[in-house]
Formats: sequence, C-alpha cells, structure tokens
Amino acid sequence: MPTKDQVHEQLATVNDPEIDKPITELGMVSDIAIEGRRVGVQIKLTIPGCPLKDRITREVTEAVMRLDDVDDVQVAFGSMTDEERQSLSANLRAERGAANPEMDIPFAAADSTTKVIAVASGKGGVGKSSVTVNLAAALAKQGHKVGVMDADIWGYSIPRMLGVSGKPVAFEGMVMPLQAHGCKVISIGFFTDPDRSVIWRGPMLHRALQQFLGDVHWGELDFLLCDLPPGTGDIAISLAQMLPNADMVVVTTPQQAAQKVALRAGKATEQTGMKVTGVIENMAGFTDPETGKTHDIFGSGGGEELAEALGTDLLGRIPIDPHLREASDAGVPLVVSHPDVPASIAITKVASDIAARSKSIIGRSLPLNVS
Ligand code: ADP
Repeated sequence: MPTKDQVHEQLATVNDPEIDKPITELGMVSDIAIEGRRVGVQIKLTIPGCPLKDRITREVTEAVMRLDDVDDVQVAFGSMTDEERQSLSANLRAERGAANPEMDIPFAAADSTTKVIAVASGKGGVGKSSVTVNLAAALAKQGHKVGVMDADIWGYSIPRMLGVSGKPVAFEGMVMPLQAHGCKVISIGFFTDPDRSVIWRGPMLHRALQQFLGDVHWGELDFLLCDLPPGTGDIAISLAQMLPNADMVVVTTPQQAAQKVALRAGKATEQTGMKVTGVIENMAGFTDPETGKTHDIFGSGGGEELAEALGTDLLGRIPIDPHLREASDAGVPLVVSHPDVPASIAITKVASDIAARSKSIIGRSLPLNVS
C-alpha cells in the first residue's frame, strides 16, 4: 500500500498549468485518501470551473500511477475559498519580491535577473514583430525562459504570429499569460474585440503597460521581449520609465529612408535613458532559389549605417524569405517551422549573441558613478 508521503511526492511533480508551479506548493491538494491499491486525490482549483480540469486530472493520475503499488486513481475537484485565493495571490506577489505594491514591477527590481529587450522600429512594416517572435522562439529553443509582451497596442500582431488566442485567466488581480512555442505571451489582442480598433490615450497606455508588467504572473524569466509600436511614441517613454534597465534593439530595412526614421526611434532613447544595444537589418536581400543570385530588393547598407549612427553594433542581417511570411500567417515562427533556412540561421545567431552578452553582464558588479 502506498503512503500519503509517497503520493504527495508524486503530486509535487504536477504543475498547475496556468501558474506553472507544483500544485502541492500552491496549496491545491486538499486531501489524499488511500484504500489498498486505490488512491483518491482532492484538488482545490484556484478558480471554480477551471477549463484545465481535464489536463490536471490526467497529469495527477499519471503521476500517482507511477507508484508501483497503485492500480487506480480518482481525482475530485473543489475550489479555493476567497481567503485561500487571496493568500495564494499574496504569496505569488511576495515571491516576486515586490517591495512596493505601487511600483509592483518585478523586472524593475535591482536584483532582477530578467533581461528586458524592447524591439523598436522607425516605421511599420519593416518586420519588427516578425523579428520579436522569432527571437523569442529562438531563445526558448536554446533553453531560456522567455516572455513576450506585445506593447504594440494599436497594431498588435503577436497573437497571430505565435498562433495563440483565447482569454488569459485572471485570478485575484493577477493575469496568467498564455503560452506558445515555449514562450509566455501577453497581448492587448487577448482582451479586445479583434474587429474594433483600440483608441487609447497616454495615461491609459501607461496603465496597460504597468498591468502587463506588474499584474501578469510571468514567473521567472531569463528574457522579456517587448514588441513596441513603430516610431517614437508614448509607449517607449512609459516603458523606459518603468524599466530603466531595459535594452533596445532597433529593426530596420536596408533602405536609406527606413534607416533615417529608425535613427529617430533609436535616438529617442537618449531622452529616456534606455540603452540601444544593437540593430537588426531585416529584409536584407532575396536569394533566388532558381539562380542562386541575391537581389538587394530594399537596397543595402542601411543596418550598418544605422548601427554606426547610433554608436552600436549590427547584430545581424535577416534575408527576405517568403517562408517567414507564410509561417507567421500560420502562427508558427520561422525558426520553428524552417530552422535550417538562412533567415532562421541569422535570427538564431542573433539570439545566441544576445544570450551570451546578457550572461556576461549577470554577476558582474555595476560600475559606481563617483563624481
Ligand atoms: P512590423 O512589426 O515592423 O510592422 P511585421 O513583422 O508585421 O512588421 O512584418 C510585415 C510583413 O512583412 C509581414 O507580412 C511579415 O510576414 C513580412 N516579413 C517580415 N520580415 C520578413 C522577411 N525577412 N522575409 C519575408 N517576409 C517578411
């Protein structure tokens, strides 16, 4: 006959799918009953009628059945009381080290180990969102814990590009991000009617970003990629205020005109204190598969010139690849659907470089400003 401790040990391997922590730690296991080779487990759901009941049942059953002397597992559900929910939410917030509930943004804490990368562009259509999702998926494939925050409030396209839809579950003032291709994702697109445009003014945008950063249960992340709206607007300024340690990557096409507008977006960081850590040139040439000849459809050299003008590095050049658009439309990043094509190889290399750089920063003491 199994013991309660043995069953508990197995249950500790089951994570709540939304909060992504063991159900035992979350106080979700309210009772374990054992009768011969039969085990009954009572689970308290964080919200009644949780849509993930089936998944929890399956995972709890599989975990307990791993014990040699168990033949049958019965899972029953109840739900937490209001007090239990509030206490769990308070614990989750406390765990993030939120010292000041007003400025409850874990990534802004001095000891945060999450590298926040804002992806910006001078104008729309240069592939900023495509680069964001592919970088995110590439980092996730390399084993990093990645979050994607879609801050492109008006032109959000992240949900479509990552093939993720649905309403995130909110629980005691905390929102659980959705997941896709190994990344946690939050977008205004999850909360709005897709056919209605969002008309928001500065303070509302600021509040929305604050909620995305503070009220979303991101858990531990190595990287948080933020897809900014194109241009130099309120969002970049708000984000810089909330995340003074964020880095900015600017995406441009090789075209002169695009590079000039991108320069403005990059230069705007001088007023906000955000640091531009690199430029990514997208749509850099198209190689005809028939002839093997490369055509610089959008000109050439824009990325290099922009990097020079901003005093930063050119992180990579991503060629035009029709598969990238097809993959985006199908909700799968190119680095997942076609990992071996030159565009995927270029993005994967940028991801490795970014990861290597942030590793070299972690653990290094910060220079003190002694005047
Ligand atoms: P932005 O976020 O800058 O507005 P998107 O990422 O939405 O730009 O890209 C605009 C369009 O260009 C999309 O249809 C996308 O699939 C396509 N696209 C972006 N980069 C490439 C590329 N390297 N090769 C082919 N198509 C691309």
